[in-house]
Amino acid sequence: MMTETAMGKRQTSIIGGNAGRNRSHNRRVVLDFVRANEPAGRAEIARSCGLSVQAVSNIIESLEREGLLLAAGHRVGARGKPALQYRFDPDGAFSVGVELRPDIAICALINLSGEMIFSEQTDLADASLSCAIEAVDKVVNRAIRASGRAQKNWLGTGIVMPGPFGMSELSFAGGTALPGWEHVNIRRAFSEALGCEVIVENDATAAAISERVSGVARGLDSFCFIYFGTGLGLGVISGGHVQGGVMGNAGEIGHIITASEGLPCACGNHGCLEMYASRTSALHFLEKNGVEVGSGDDLSQLLAQNSEALLNWLDSAAEHLSRAIGMVENLFDPEAVILGGAMPDTIIEALIARLNLPRGSVANRKDRAIDRVLQGSSGRFTAAMGGAAMIVHQTITPSITVFN
Ligand SMILES: [Zn+2]
Repeated sequence: MMTETAMGKRQTSIIGGNAGRNRSHNRRVVLDFVRANEPAGRAEIARSCGLSVQAVSNIIESLEREGLLLAAGHRVGARGKPALQYRFDPDGAFSVGVELRPDIAICALINLSGEMIFSEQTDLADASLSCAIEAVDKVVNRAIRASGRAQKNWLGTGIVMPGPFGMSELSFAGGTALPGWEHVNIRRAFSEALGCEVIVENDATAAAISERVSGVARGLDSFCFIYFGTGLGLGVISGGHVQGGVMGNAGEIGHIITASEGLPCACGNHGCLEMYASRTSALHFLEKNGVEVGSGDDLSQLLAQNSEALLNWLDSAAEHLSRAIGMVENLFDPEAVILGGAMPDTIIEALIARLNLPRGSVANRKDRAIDRVLQGSSGRFTAAMGGAAMIVHQTITPSITVFN
């Protein structure tokens, strides 16, 4: 089943048994097997993947032509002809991820192993779609040129942005979402402009995927990621599947209420988490207390100087985050909640150190192997890398779910 949304076609996690065993599915099965078991010969691949040797030969031939598999010499067996072996080539193709915020675009180009080959942050003149498309087109082409890759090996681009997607009462929550994009099919707009395959995902989910592929969530199948972007987002991975909701808006954690009768939020509610624990809230709080702040890095400088205003914000932010984390734990039963994104590492660390997590949580149990809350590891390129990783996974992972 597929539904058309502002993000473009959104695939659900239903995999169609034999019906899905078409040529492109079989290609991904072969690639995935070789990647995990290299070097591997045709007969071994055919046996393990349940395909005929002829089918495997045809697939290998096309994968070799595309540069995704390399011949890697012969293996001499106990009897019979030595079998030609194949290896996966992580540099045979690449993908690009671009995180869009109202004022900047963050770009990461990765190879098939998820290694970051090129990264760049660029300013946007404004938050309009035309300006973003022009900037993305330029930065993506710069990334391809600078990394010395051939256009023909470009698998596609993952566009990552803050929600909410589509039209809702949260669409005008001011400053943190991208205004005027509500009625646009974003996937189609970028795909036509860039001339490549495009996936659109919200920033928190993309960041969660990045942590799962190459960060602290490696080996975790159920976890939540609280993403400090322009506002606050929540990526939820449960049983290896992304929880997206009907419009891709699951995880708008910035607008859950952690203080009844609290500060008024642009969304119309009072006491939203985003008013206390986001980067924007830190800047407002500091400004109200007479401290001028420019960039995120200034926050870590203030922390190093033990700025009283910043320490007060941290205490209050940690209190609200603790409540939100308790809710997230009771809602999703994750193995851990990860904090990360566009906040300096030292600030995230200071927030985690100040958390006072609620006792009344399903996550509060004695047999825990890992902490309830972990710090993300990929820094400010996390979401962009996640967008790029989604494209790679679409090419080399046999199921249409992100993991498995
Ligand atoms: Zn709100």
